Amino acid sequence: MAGAVAEVIEDVPSALLIEAATGVGKTYAYLVPALLSERRVLISTGTKTLQDQLFAKDLPMVCEALGRRPRIALLKGRSNYLCHYRLEAAAGDAIGRGRQLATIESLRRLARTSATGDLTQAGILAEDAPLWPQVTSTVDNCLGGECPRFNDCFVVRARRRAQDAEVIVVNHHLLLADMALKDEGFGDLLPEVDAVIVDEAHQLPEIAGAFFGLAVGTRAVRELGRDVLREMERDAPEMVDLRDRVAALQAAVAALLHCSEAWPARASWAEVGDAPGVLPALSGLDLALAEMEDALTGAADRSPGLDQARGRCTTLRGRLRGWLEESPETVPWVERFKQSLMLHRTPLDAARPLAERRAARPASWIFTSATLAVGEDFSHAARRLGLPDDVRAERLDSPFDFSRQACLALPEHPLPNPNTPGYTRACIDWAWPLLSGNPGGGFFLFTSHRALREAAALLRDRLPPERPLLVQGEQPRAELLARFRDSGDAWLLGAHSFWEGVDIRGDTLSIVIIDRLPFAAPNDPVLQARAASIEAGGGSPFMEFQLPQAVLALKQGVGRLIRDANDAGILALCDPRLTQKPYGRQFLRSLPRFHETRDPVHALEFLHNARQGRGDAVCV
Ligand code: SF4
Repeated sequence: MAGAVAEVIEDVPSALLIEAATGVGKTYAYLVPALLSERRVLISTGTKTLQDQLFAKDLPMVCEALGRRPRIALLKGRSNYLCHYRLEAAAGDAIGRGRQLATIESLRRLARTSATGDLTQAGILAEDAPLWPQVTSTVDNCLGGECPRFNDCFVVRARRRAQDAEVIVVNHHLLLADMALKDEGFGDLLPEVDAVIVDEAHQLPEIAGAFFGLAVGTRAVRELGRDVLREMERDAPEMVDLRDRVAALQAAVAALLHCSEAWPARASWAEVGDAPGVLPALSGLDLALAEMEDALTGAADRSPGLDQARGRCTTLRGRLRGWLEESPETVPWVERFKQSLMLHRTPLDAARPLAERRAARPASWIFTSATLAVGEDFSHAARRLGLPDDVRAERLDSPFDFSRQACLALPEHPLPNPNTPGYTRACIDWAWPLLSGNPGGGFFLFTSHRALREAAALLRDRLPPERPLLVQGEQPRAELLARFRDSGDAWLLGAHSFWEGVDIRGDTLSIVIIDRLPFAAPNDPVLQARAASIEAGGGSPFMEFQLPQAVLALKQGVGRLIRDANDAGILALCDPRLTQKPYGRQFLRSLPRFHETRDPVHALEFLHNARQGRGDAVCV
């Protein structure tokens, strides 16, 4: 892998797709040639956690080993950095609220002492804390050059470090913000580079959909209203008409939320757009934003905050109008939360904008992940990433000995159809020897929250009370994982977010049970529109999109099991379609070569023997 990466870095412009299974040492295999090349390199990771790990651990280690001292910068999206200006405004709001004031004091201390102002690393606030957006900035509410704290602004400083660095570590959201030319403020986001390495590249197309699309939400409108009131009370208290405009804006938001109360969590606009009162509510919101914009135009010279609010108002109105416009290349859909609504327009296909933006930035592009190929075939990943069919692609198998370390258990007699009501109970009955007989811990992974909840209720009745049962949704993800690691014999029931990004070794995670093949929910509005578009072009949405997507998702889930050469484990796949449907073979062929059994008890014996490190581990 290092050789292939080195060749591609030397050959500008070029592209490489490289699948590296767990254990290959993917990170080192791209860091070493990148650092030896002495070129300017941008590395993009899937998550902020991986970004931090790369910056704080992997990069320093490889630099040390190679004796290199390049200038390295870590750059995150602006919402990760404390904003001095908004922190002080929030401090003013918090007077009299004891607990929040204590948190604000901790944040002020951080603002004084931290070199980076990185809130994610500080551990003071949870990422979903209501205070988070109040003490960080968005491009809409940042005062930019008008800000009295511009010179010591953490966002500005981080951008400057990145502009000056030879190796820049970002995440996909930031890379895409840059590619989509989304204005993040302060001019160019990322510097020109010779090579871009996209790790966890399988995540890029989905995230790209959001960046090349358009979204506008009621939460941003409400925040605008709140900020206008605060700025008015401080700098223009006599402009009472602003108070009326804020009230009108909040009423328009409330009317829209009221008529969307019964909508599902995600729905296509075609499905809900003609509900009674929706179009008048949207017109009402547009009008309220227009009147607010007018009122703020008259107040803009009273303070930078009011001037900036006018800009935000214009942007929000522009987005709302853009969303309302017909556009055949995009899918309009809505996302309903408890107290807010998001209106989205997602491109039918992000491949074209990805290809165009890559062409506009001539560099070596390296896309790597543990899951890019379906069998030996990279065409699905290449198509979604906007790469040509003949792009150079390589696959590196895991160096682990799966036939000795891991056992695949499939039901002897196929379980009922996964869409029938008794399916989850049947999965538990079949997997019961594994659930009850393993002295270590395991993951039970689901494709739907409904099945997860049903399994949790059934297992609470059946597992002995001393056996820890951790259920996604009952605690934050990080807490669940910490408890899982500590307990050593827990069962963790998880949906999508536990299928990837978890690295737990040894007996603690020695069984992975998967209830269904991870096909995307057929009622997802974006998936439905993409399927219709493929069909209209004469293709098969199932073979061209849904199946390869599900194969890659299954590979991610399976990848949780064997994490190093000493690991041993059982993979149990309950879904009868694996053996009953012709396409089941595509899934099985894409997995490493496990020992196979149809009997969970034999699988446990295999695991026991593998744990003893005996060479005669056998699966019957
Ligand atoms: S420049 Fe923007 S992000 Fe920086 S402190 Fe000022 S308002 Fe906050």
